[in-house]
Amino acid sequence: MQNIYGYTINDLEKYFESFGEKKFKATQVFEWLYKKRVTSFDEMSNIKKENQEKLKADFSINQLNIIDKKSDIDVNKYLFELSDGEKIEAVLMRHDYGNSLCVSSQVGCNMGCSFCESGRLKKVRNLETYEMVLQILMVKKDLNIRISHIVLMGIGEPLDNYDNVVKFIDIINSPKGIDIGSRHITVSTCGLVPKIREFINLGKQVNLAISLHAPNNELRNKLMNINKAYPIEEVIKVVKEYIDVTNRRVTFEYIMLKDVNDQVNHALELAKLLKGINCYVNLIPYNETSHIEFKKTGQEQIMKFYDILKKNGIGVTIRREFGSKVKAACGQLRAEHKEVA
Ligand code: SAH
Repeated sequence: MQNIYGYTINDLEKYFESFGEKKFKATQVFEWLYKKRVTSFDEMSNIKKENQEKLKADFSINQLNIIDKKSDIDVNKYLFELSDGEKIEAVLMRHDYGNSLCVSSQVGCNMGCSFCESGRLKKVRNLETYEMVLQILMVKKDLNIRISHIVLMGIGEPLDNYDNVVKFIDIINSPKGIDIGSRHITVSTCGLVPKIREFINLGKQVNLAISLHAPNNELRNKLMNINKAYPIEEVIKVVKEYIDVTNRRVTFEYIMLKDVNDQVNHALELAKLLKGINCYVNLIPYNETSHIEFKKTGQEQIMKFYDILKKNGIGVTIRREFGSKVKAACGQLRAEHKEVA
């Protein structure tokens, strides 16, 4: 049985029309699900009994189970259990501009980045659309807050789960649903070039973040397997296409790994690579994990790197560190549970 949270408004309109009902029933259901936040079809009081029964027979409305939760002042981290027992994470970060939720897109990940905890555990399966939508609803309800931004930067490679991610964006972006503006949604990818191209052609004004992490192919090949399939020059080419079509600035994420990619020559090479592109670099302090030998770059060296980029005309920010006390690094909570289980 399909879970109702995986249906776009368009899907639901088609559903109602398939048995001769009016399209606007879909809007009513959407409002119950996303504005009034009921969790049973019985509570949808403007839907007639007969249709409530039909919905019940055709859809599940099951939620996710929250099985662990860790909090700090500026961060709330959730571990969910899915109906098949798999576990995923979502992390709520409180910024001064609003609350941003980092959503997972897969159980594990197959991209095999050498520094990343999620990849260490390999991909088990893609998340269904409803499992992504429910991460938002569960956190919203648990904390009773507004979530203004969504980043697809949790466990998994979103563009390796393309169709479900596109549906997810459609549902959360709908004014009749959770209504998160496309400019407040960010898809982060390790660089699946053909999928980025497909994504551009969708014509959505969603932000694109590229996990770059190295200024040349030799180093990027060592850190990120995907670079062997889609080297830096192809990534840069598709980023330029994105900018041409959307006129939007791209973010390059760059994890600072001590003595690996954080030296002066790397900064200079990166500045040269990105010169003239409408982008900025987000320097990410590495979140160390006990299983992987990489170390985080010290604050002083991060500042040095930052200054070089800045002096060379590249927009640059340093990511604020959230919740290192609560193991907020990608996939760490899930990994921890897997190992004790
Ligand atoms: N697969 C997508 C999105 C998930 S990872 C991608 O690669 O972009 C989200 C970001 O977290 C990526 O930039 C990833 O490289 C980074 N990341 C992974 N492990 C990390 C760690 N231990 N500390 C800091 N950032 C990490």
